Amino acid sequence: MNLEPVIGLEVHVQLATESKIFCGCPNAFGGEPNSRICAVCLGYPGTLPVLNRAAVDQAVRLSLSLDATINQRSVFARKNYFYPDLPKGYQISQFDLPLAEWGTLPLSDGSALSITRLHLEEDAGKLLHEMPGGGELPGESLVDFNRCGVPLLEIVTEPDLRSAGSAQDALQRLHQVLRFTGTSDGNMEEGSFRCDANVSLRPVGREAYGEKVEVKNLNSFRNVARSILHEIERQTLVLESGQLVVQETRSFDASNGTTASLRSKEEAHDYRYFPEPDLPPLLIDDARLQSLAGALPERPWARADRLRSEFGLTGDDAHLLTQSVELAEYFEEATKCLPENPLGIANWIKTEVLRELKRPDAPPAANWLAPAKLAGLVGMIDNGSLSGSGAKEVFAEIWESHEDPHRATERLGLAQVNDEGQLEAWLQQALKANRGPTEQLLAGEHRVVAFLVGQVMKLSQGSADPRWIRERLLEWSRANGAP
Ligand SMILES: [Zn+2]
Repeated sequence: MNLEPVIGLEVHVQLATESKIFCGCPNAFGGEPNSRICAVCLGYPGTLPVLNRAAVDQAVRLSLSLDATINQRSVFARKNYFYPDLPKGYQISQFDLPLAEWGTLPLSDGSALSITRLHLEEDAGKLLHEMPGGGELPGESLVDFNRCGVPLLEIVTEPDLRSAGSAQDALQRLHQVLRFTGTSDGNMEEGSFRCDANVSLRPVGREAYGEKVEVKNLNSFRNVARSILHEIERQTLVLESGQLVVQETRSFDASNGTTASLRSKEEAHDYRYFPEPDLPPLLIDDARLQSLAGALPERPWARADRLRSEFGLTGDDAHLLTQSVELAEYFEEATKCLPENPLGIANWIKTEVLRELKRPDAPPAANWLAPAKLAGLVGMIDNGSLSGSGAKEVFAEIWESHEDPHRATERLGLAQVNDEGQLEAWLQQALKANRGPTEQLLAGEHRVVAFLVGQVMKLSQGSADPRWIRERLLEWSRANGAP
């Protein structure tokens, strides 16, 4: 049987705001358990939610950056279920009339993923099964309500993806968009960006979808791809053995790369959605929509296009430098300090900087070497005061220490001598000291050039520019009769 995977994604994005979506408690990760809570986010009787305008703005901005259509009238709904991390017994979400619909996410291969809907909702709390900081709880679980009421935008895509790789790419692109637009910190370890994947199989050529399995709470791009690959394999075996795939929710075990059943369709919640009686419909007028659209930061693909046209970067380099907003900022900041050589800066970021950033202990962007210092280093190569190999040595020294590149060059004795009088004196000294090779050079035997360059480098203790010495030797030999 020739089977085709059908994959759709559901992503929860925590929006970057000062306070929670329906109360004034701070929206921040962590903190002493149950220290960022109030009667509203705990759902005490008699309290009423008040919608946070900033959360709506961030949700609209993220929706607009995905070219979604904003519903200028949307409605909050109660999603009813019982779980210990949900003190109200319901979650305020949106159902029939979401904030936005029909967006588009451009993918790396040039195709695009359709986004079905984007809706606002509140996050739930967290159950702790081990003591904060490690150590087992004695046979019980604790609950931390700090996360209750953190604003979320849920993004649901069409089931248009056909491989684990393209699903991973879609998530990375989506993550890129929210980082470039500043609508979320996107921190996956802290749960600011969480993904569920819906996976089903169908015979190639058949239009109807197969029974789908939802894999919950995938916490890294890699695990999304791994869990989908596993599901494709598992469902293929089920179908090929003549059985049916059971519609269910499964969890992914990152330690062994497999999924396990959480609950079947029969056990699925019936959420009994109804319009939230404590909140009026959310209305967004034209003026607000226009001002949010007008102030939307550049999206990653637009920024890549601009880097190409403004600085003459290749498409691949522009793509590489816009893989994160931090890297794009870094490039542009460095370029401001050395506007005459953007390509040189791009090359240094592509090679030396990215090599450092790939290390497991790579520092956060705030601790990268200042872009002005990188520009200073590239400028020293450009004006001949530092060789390319010397610059690599200096870079390795200053990346962590943040030392000034000029000072580090001096300290390491790597400064290249530009004084032509001095260089000429070393060159003549080397010629005099090496009569045999000098005569060979004058006879046109170019193979001795490297030896003589080496002698000059020795005399200069490495501070001469070998390219300059080589050219000058050839020039001198021709001026003195060499063929
Ligand atoms: Zn609160």
